[in-house]
Amino acid sequence: MPTRGGSIRLFRIFGIEVFLHWSWFLVAVYEVQMMRSRYSSLAWPVLEYLGLFAMVTMHEFGHALACRQTGGVAEKIFLWPLGGIAFVSPPPRPGAMLWSIAAGPLVNVALVPIFWIALHLAANAGWPNDNLDAFLVLTWLGRINLGLLIFNLLPIYPLDGGQILRSLLWFPFGEIRSLFIATAIGLAGGAALLLAAVWFQSFWIGFMAFFLLSRAIVGWKQARYLRAEEAEQTRVLAPELPEKKALL
Ligand SMILES: [Zn+2]
Repeated sequence: MPTRGGSIRLFRIFGIEVFLHWSWFLVAVYEVQMMRSRYSSLAWPVLEYLGLFAMVTMHEFGHALACRQTGGVAEKIFLWPLGGIAFVSPPPRPGAMLWSIAAGPLVNVALVPIFWIALHLAANAGWPNDNLDAFLVLTWLGRINLGLLIFNLLPIYPLDGGQILRSLLWFPFGEIRSLFIATAIGLAGGAALLLAAVWFQSFWIGFMAFFLLSRAIVGWKQARYLRAEEAEQTRVLAPELPEKKALL
């Protein structure tokens, strides 16, 4: 998990501070080298990688601004090699939670027609012949946006899809049981992702699987804590504190 200690403060917009973890640079150098062969010069893979993280940042701002809209608190966004994390505290209502989570992937949904139109215009302007590198950057960013959208919507807690599932289950099952069900599915999904990492021999899928599993375990423990708290009936006496969430 990225910490504030190892992060650089990039900028602040709408009162939301964006931090970048130092390890991002290491992975960026590696990834840019991997993409190098499909472009004529180094500037283009750098542009593609920066474009990817521009999209990730927009996605996180979707979460943060939607959370604010519901009356919640959202002040920080962290970027690290696996993507972004928006630290948000929406009011403890399923509707507020649902909107704070869904707004992230909705940014990627909004980008789909924008990329489609841009690629269409670029193709008509003759970019595939005259400006191939720029056309490839646009094509790859369009594909990556679609890939990010599909991956984020997998119902594996704490991915957005898993958190959307939890918010929807909150309506019929309540705050605690919905968290138990969603994190149990998240644990199974994380384990499946781990198997996929072994199958494809992919370090990154394995790293992502471990990260998701560790967050799903935290979610499961949180559900147990909430249940114990409810059993003691202290929640009716104590003021209700908004749940702190880390949205991917
Ligand atoms: Zn997200």
